[in-house]
Amino acid sequence: MVANQKGGVGKTTSTVNVAAGLAQLGQRVLVIDLDPQGNASTALAVEHRRGVPSTYDALVDGVPLADVVAPCPDVPGLWVVPATIDLAGAEIELVSVVAREGRLKRSIDGHPLVGSAEAVGDDRFDFVLIDCPPSLGLLTLNALVAGDEMMIPIQAEYYALEGLGQLLETVDMVRAHLNPDLAVSTILVTMFDARTRLAAGVAEEVREHFGDQVLKTSIPRSVRVSEAPSYGQTVMTYDPGSPGALSYLEAAREIAIKGVRA
Ligand code: ADP
Ligand code: MG
Repeated sequence: MVANQKGGVGKTTSTVNVAAGLAQLGQRVLVIDLDPQGNASTALAVEHRRGVPSTYDALVDGVPLADVVAPCPDVPGLWVVPATIDLAGAEIELVSVVAREGRLKRSIDGHPLVGSAEAVGDDRFDFVLIDCPPSLGLLTLNALVAGDEMMIPIQAEYYALEGLGQLLETVDMVRAHLNPDLAVSTILVTMFDARTRLAAGVAEEVREHFGDQVLKTSIPRSVRVSEAPSYGQTVMTYDPGSPGALSYLEAAREIAIKGVRA
């Protein structure tokens, strides 16, 4: 899953563009939008007005995940579970539910196309990416229990590492009590401005701290990346030759080679 409890660090942008990059490389990818804002759904041009089958139905009402998946119209090989605003209420509604932190895992594991190739065949999803909301509440906790690998986007700016301690403590807690397989497998430096010394310094600090977990590819700050969602596109289709698109494709390639199931 893609998580960082800070907002605006590039979680959603990285989720949708890495997903599109993986799909472009021939992988079959499912994106689960776990943020009530539904920004990933918007960027992938999947409807997410109230009433559309969504993550909320799977999480709160136990509707099978296969019944709430929609294909991304622009990107072959990419499917989306959209988030509607109802999901904002799930954080509270789930509090009284039994095994509330394992709802998403059950839902994903119950999908007929999730599992080993031997078990589910060639149509299986190679990757399931979960776009988390900017908090460490019950929704993010469900993602931490459901996924084995976590990707943290880090903005190449001052204070970038601030607050990460809390996220990593939560990861340790989840690993100890709920999901022993959880690993922070991938760090992606985003919004990198090669012209500033600050960005280079932050990237270096992140590499010192996390070592091999940090992808070699950083994502440059680019208006093309930020414009794409308003056209209901990822930057991969909006401007495929742009530095942002090429970097996300390269990041996706690194992830595919690692075999990370973010
Ligand atoms: P989060 O999901 O962590 O809240 P977003 O992915 O929505 O963060 O990104 C926050 C803002 O930064 C958005 O407006 C997005 O378009 C912009 N943004 C993200 N990555 C880049 C980038 N590489 N270059 C320029 N703007 C970016
Ligand atoms: Mg987001």
